[in-house]
Formats: sequence, C-alpha cells, structure tokens
Amino acid sequence: MDSDTSLDLLHSVLNAVTLGAVVLDQDRRIVLWNDWMHRHAQLPPQQALGADFLALFPALRGTRVDAAIDQALRHHFPSLLSQSLNKAPFPLYASAAAARADERLQQAVAITPVDVRGAPRHCLIQISDVSIAVGREKLLREQTLVLRSQTFADGLTGIANRRHFDVAIEREHRRARRQGAPLSLLMIDIDHFKAYNDHYGHQKGDQCLIQVAAALSAMLKRSADLMARYGGEEFAMILPDTDADQARQMAEAIRARAQALAIAHAHTNDAGHGVVTVSIGVATRSAESPVDIDTLIGHADRALYRAKKNGRNRVEAQPSPSRTQCY
Ligand code: GH3
Ligand code: MG
Ligand code: MG
Repeated sequence: MDSDTSLDLLHSVLNAVTLGAVVLDQDRRIVLWNDWMHRHAQLPPQQALGADFLALFPALRGTRVDAAIDQALRHHFPSLLSQSLNKAPFPLYASAAAARADERLQQAVAITPVDVRGAPRHCLIQISDVSIAVGREKLLREQTLVLRSQTFADGLTGIANRRHFDVAIEREHRRARRQGAPLSLLMIDIDHFKAYNDHYGHQKGDQCLIQVAAALSAMLKRSADLMARYGGEEFAMILPDTDADQARQMAEAIRARAQALAIAHAHTNDAGHGVVTVSIGVATRSAESPVDIDTLIGHADRALYRAKKNGRNRVEAQPSPSRTQCY
C-alpha cells in the first residue's frame, strides 16, 4: 500500500468511526475534525479546521476540558473526564431538532497527547455518545426506587405492608428503649368481615378494606406514626412517643372514624349498628413496663381479643386499666 492509499484509508476510518475525533495542534488549532463531529456539532470541517478551539467553544474556557487539553499538550498527561461531573461538555446533538431544544448528547470524553515525529506535540479529543447507557442507568435507578417502595407497600390498600411493619416496629422499639420514651401499638380488626364478604362479595370486601385503610391512615399526623396492613382485615398502628392514655384516645378516635364512614353492613350479628365497625387492642411500652417487641404485640393481640369478646366496636387496652369504657 503506498502512502497516499494509506492516508486515504486512515481518513476513511476516521470518518467511519462512531465517535467524535478532534486533533489540536500545539497552538490549540483544530487540525482534524471527523464526520461524526460534523454531524453532531452541526459544523462542517471547512468551518472547524484551522479554527482556534476555544474560539469555536468559548463556553469550555476554564473548564475541565480546557485543563485536560493543557495537561496533554504541555505535560503529556492523558485524561478521562468523569462522566458524572462532565455530563455534556460539548454542544453535540443527536439531531437538528435536539439542537433546537438544546438536548445535548451525554458524553464520555478522553483527551490524549499525540506525539508527531519532528513536530510539536498534538492532542486527540475523543468523544463518545453515552446517552443510551446513561438513560438505561437512570431507568434502572427509577425502577429500583419503585420496586423498593412496592416491597414495603401493601398491594391492595397501598399502605405499609407487614414487612414494613416489622422493620418499623424494630426501629421504633430501639428508639423508645434508647430515649426512654413511650411507644404504643394498636391492633385494629374489622368486625364480622367474613359475613361482609359472604353477603356483599369479595370485591366489595376489597373496596371496604381500601376505604377503611385510607380513612384511618389519614388520621395519622406525625411522620413517625405508621399504619400497616398486618393481616387480611387486620391493621396495626405504631405510635411512637405516645403513652397509654394518648394511645387509648387515639384508638377511640379511630374506632369512631371507622363507624362514621357508614359503610353499610346489614349482616352483623350486633344489633343496632348496621355499618362496618372495628375493634381495637392497645398496648404500650413505657419506662415502667419495658416490654420487648413480641410481648408488646402479644399484649395488643390479647387486648383485641378482649374487645371482640366484650362485644366488638370497642377499644381495650393491655395491661388492662382500672376503668373500662363501653360504647
Ligand atoms: P371478627 O369480628 O371476629 O373479626 O370476625 P371476622 O369475620 O372479621 O373474622 P374472621 O377472621 O373470621 O374473618 C376475616 C375475613 O377477612 C375472612 C377473609 O375472607 C376476609 N379477608 C381477609 N383478607 C381479605 C382481603 O384481602 N379481601 C377480602 N375481601 N376479604 C379478606
Ligand atoms: Mg375481623
Ligand atoms: Mg381478623
């Protein structure tokens, strides 16, 4: 192959590669500008060749690109620009429409010193389009966030699920122990829900669960409070910094709120209501009664059982206080 053919081949290869190639001489004048640059910078070679690099890209003065060119030409150091810090240093676009919208290609930039025999040093700037990889990464990050939130949310009601409850009760129990603050737990169970399903159908049953979960969780005002779907038609509320009296008051407000939703339930065995109601068991961990998590849950369960036994649509606490309330 003679040297003319070799040069032609080199020229064709440079124009065929799918990345931007720019060569600057010692005075930072552009001496090579390939087709990819022509297409994506929308600048033909006749305009770019011989031009002063910073005159063509004035916004790059004083940037990492400017410094990296200096390092290559003066100190013979190659540089790879961090993609996270330099997402799109060059005004390069996928299309004319993208240029009008100023949506730059995401770029990976490498700047390398090039020694030319018998001439002062040059530098090569290589730019690759990493938009697809960056887009994919962004999508993956977003999907991870969605998946993470889904693994902690109940599919039907959208409130916290049992797994979320387990994590939150551990955290709040630890905090209560450390700070000596009270921690209360409410177990809330819909009354005669099997009969509701049997008479109105499972779909209506689902609707009822959604409505009750939304209304009761909306009653929680503090960010550390959490309402979770504990089981089928059973909900748990974690109330940090809440003593036994406050928890009981909260439970009573929740019981009343559920009844006030007035979801027709003509088939309860309890005469007089005719609407969906809930029973609630309350348990509290305090400095005087520093129970562990299992005991706290056991207390709330036992209190709920008593509320059911004593007639439903009521609140019971464990340990049982001296006064009992009837509704
Ligand atoms: P009690 O007042 O003693 O709590 O009586 P109950 O009928 O509510 O209690 P039981 O535990 O016997 O029945 C709970 C019912 O909840 C049975 C089950 O079909 C229903 N259930 C559980 N999960 C779901 C759900 O996701 N959707 C619907 N529609 N029903 C559910
Ligand atoms: Mg029930
Ligand atoms: Mg139940």
